[in-house]
Amino acid sequence: MASSIRSLLPAAVSLVSAVACTPTPTVGDSAPEGAAPLRFVFPVDSPDLINQTIGVDHDPAVYDGVEELICTNYDGRGFPWCYDEHDGSDYLLDGGFDTMDAGSVGVIAAADGVVVEISDGNYDRCHGVSSGGVDCDGYEMIANYVVLEHEGGVLSRYWHLKSGSVLVSVGQAVSCGEPLGRIGSSGYSSTPHLHFELHDPDGSSIDPYAGEHSQEESFWAEQGDPEGLPGGACAG
Ligand SMILES: [Zn+2]
Repeated sequence: MASSIRSLLPAAVSLVSAVACTPTPTVGDSAPEGAAPLRFVFPVDSPDLINQTIGVDHDPAVYDGVEELICTNYDGRGFPWCYDEHDGSDYLLDGGFDTMDAGSVGVIAAADGVVVEISDGNYDRCHGVSSGGVDCDGYEMIANYVVLEHEGGVLSRYWHLKSGSVLVSVGQAVSCGEPLGRIGSSGYSSTPHLHFELHDPDGSSIDPYAGEHSQEESFWAEQGDPEGLPGGACAG
């Protein structure tokens, strides 16, 4: 067990977003009464090319060193289902850079929204190194990303996109399922993956998964099996 954890450590520990972990709120009550609750579909158009999920850490403790692997995901699992202080869900691209070079897969809007922030044109082949960090081959470690705002002010963030792949601009309204970009490895990323993150209007991160360590109600249209991927179709 210990050796298998060590072999995963460089890749998993470095799949980090730049945002600190914050307490997870209960399900938002921001939808007007009678309106359909805000729900999200899986934000990748080819789920068959996603081979691993590394989720949000619900353990409030902050660890150092090898203990950075200590975490609790929404249904009580530890690493590699999460890692310390992770505040989003990582969906790893099967085949890594080979799949990315073959065209990668599309990242789609998980719900209707408006584009509030984008970044593109940054180096997208950052990779893990044996020390556990990330190397961007001398380029600046800056992610390509899209941020959408949804009803009630909830934000969804799509991180580490392929350079030149962002298809939307700030202020643009997008529909659920609309292409936003493609999976890459820009910013602090050890292998091509999507970091998907939800935030309440007050800035608190939300784990979209329901579970005993998260909230009672899922933000996914269909949460699905804990060892599978979320599903569901866009409403309307
Ligand atoms: Zn992440």
